[in-house]
Amino acid sequence: MTELRGRALSLLGRFYGYRSFRPGQYEVIEAVASGRDAVVIMPTGGGKSICYQLPALLAERGCGIVVSPLIALMQDQTQGLVANGIPAAAIHSNRSEEENRRIFAAASAGRIKLLYVSPERLLLDVERFRMLDVSLFAIDEAHCISQWGHDFRPDYTALSALRDNFPGVPVVALTATADRLTRADIVSQLGLRSPYCYLGSFDRPNISLRAYVSPDKRTRIRFIADLARRYPSDSGVVYCLSRKGAESMCKALEGAGLRSVCYHAGMTAEERDRSLRAFLAGDVRVVCATVAFGMGIDKSNIRWVVHCNMPGNIESYYQEIGRAGRDGLPAEAVLFYSYADVVMRRNFASESGQSEVNMEKLARMQAYAEARVCRRRILLSYFGEERSCDCGNCDNCRRPPERFDGTVLAQKALSAVMRTGQQVGVKMLVNILRGAQRSDIRLAGYDRLPTFGVGSDLLYEEWNDYITQMLQLGLLEMAYERGNRLNVTPYGMRVLRGSERIELSVCPPPQSYKMKKEQAAVACSGVPDADTGLFEYLKSVRTEVARSCGMPPYLVFSDATLLDMARRRPTDMLGLLEVNGVGEKKAARFGPRFLRALAEWRVTGGIKKG
Ligand code: ADP
Ligand code: ZN
Repeated sequence: MTELRGRALSLLGRFYGYRSFRPGQYEVIEAVASGRDAVVIMPTGGGKSICYQLPALLAERGCGIVVSPLIALMQDQTQGLVANGIPAAAIHSNRSEEENRRIFAAASAGRIKLLYVSPERLLLDVERFRMLDVSLFAIDEAHCISQWGHDFRPDYTALSALRDNFPGVPVVALTATADRLTRADIVSQLGLRSPYCYLGSFDRPNISLRAYVSPDKRTRIRFIADLARRYPSDSGVVYCLSRKGAESMCKALEGAGLRSVCYHAGMTAEERDRSLRAFLAGDVRVVCATVAFGMGIDKSNIRWVVHCNMPGNIESYYQEIGRAGRDGLPAEAVLFYSYADVVMRRNFASESGQSEVNMEKLARMQAYAEARVCRRRILLSYFGEERSCDCGNCDNCRRPPERFDGTVLAQKALSAVMRTGQQVGVKMLVNILRGAQRSDIRLAGYDRLPTFGVGSDLLYEEWNDYITQMLQLGLLEMAYERGNRLNVTPYGMRVLRGSERIELSVCPPPQSYKMKKEQAAVACSGVPDADTGLFEYLKSVRTEVARSCGMPPYLVFSDATLLDMARRRPTDMLGLLEVNGVGEKKAARFGPRFLRALAEWRVTGGIKKG
């Protein structure tokens, strides 16, 4: 073992309590520690932070400067570092000038190893930073510098001045999402010199993937409430398209007895901060949010992410679901999607600066949503990763779609569309087919059509699914310019006349919109039975510890750490230090309480809880 590797490993054990590096980490650390620039592309949860934190620790002198886009994120990171015994601080506009001065003074005196700062602040204070002994720059969420990325932030472009101001200091750029174009842009804008590039695997096999075609609002709420109930001590995120959507979902969930908070750009910074704190601290388990939420959220016990609307591209989607299961334990990603989403997204994309690129990205996202093949293969192939076998952990792998001769079924729908003079959208069509007693139907005289009620044997969700399939197959098309009314295509006419037959995939039975017991069991299968009780008990101890020292629970110990503790059941401090994720500082601070809990558990055989 090289000397550097030995030192790096011993710091990893002492401060973080980890025994080995994850793929890619050491190579990046070695490059940066030897003064080389680096680009690190790893999925969310892959372990990017250690790639710049360890080189800063390895440097004998000086301080690593970390550029990060959000204050909440900086605070979370510094709090986590300090809890591990690593001196860290953040400089930002929410602090008084006095506090910032104090932090600078501490940094110049060599009492801070990692200093977090927002991009505009760094450039504003560039003279003060020049006075510091800077060991490295880490640019987190580096894709924000590129217009090709999906989250361009003008503040970031000023970072191209770094290289001139600090010619000898290595720069490491980190991001969870960057296609080839964005990657090249990061390198050129930051002026990186033949950087070491690490492109990690994007596979997150612990996240199960599912998608459902437009369940109605009640079904969605029931679904989400079920999901939350299955993970009673963990958290989840519900992503909505609009602020209004997030607010109404939040209210609806409250109505279903599920406490939740909102998070979107229409709230004041203070309100958002309050929501975030409540969520991070575990006081509230569900957040209903727009895309404004989540960048860099390192909360390890987010167990599920539900999208109520389809995102505009796969990068955003993958990044958003990547917030679940960061501890590597089983997690779930569920996408609800409807044609209305596609229409809305098309409008966004066509009005955006790069409509061609964005339309193409949207098309790929839509294909994912509608896919009847392994969803993980679609995602990974999008990021350029070859995969020759199915994942076994998505809806399409678990329940391959069954096909049937759908000619007669399609004829019913096609005939209804023709008889209304191609004047109706999907919703009205389903209501006509199912013979719904509604005033809008009577008013239009649709209740007198011969096709009224011919499809009353199927549920709303089922018709919805079949009509979506008919759109995908090209029997129907949606006239976006005519308020999304349905038209029958020439192919549809041939099927209607009976000169061609078609196959449809069986719509998943509607009960599966509700979670089934066996699925729930599969989702939780990462925890062996014998340890589950103890694991839950340790979680309750963690909650108590977190409360008493004013920290978010996941910063005390992650779920993965508690699970390892439940498996190993250490009886003394040395044993405790063997647990993955228990470093020296945390062992000293929290160890006695957890050892006491483990001792109680042994004595009572798990009968008495707390
Ligand atoms: P990213 O920034 O890439 O999203 P993080 O750096 O926040 O990911 O790491 C995700 C989680 O993995 C954290 O809880 C972190 O402590 C843990 N982790 C990172 N490196 C290791 C390692 N070598 N061994 C075990 N856990 C690790
Ligand atoms: Zn699959």
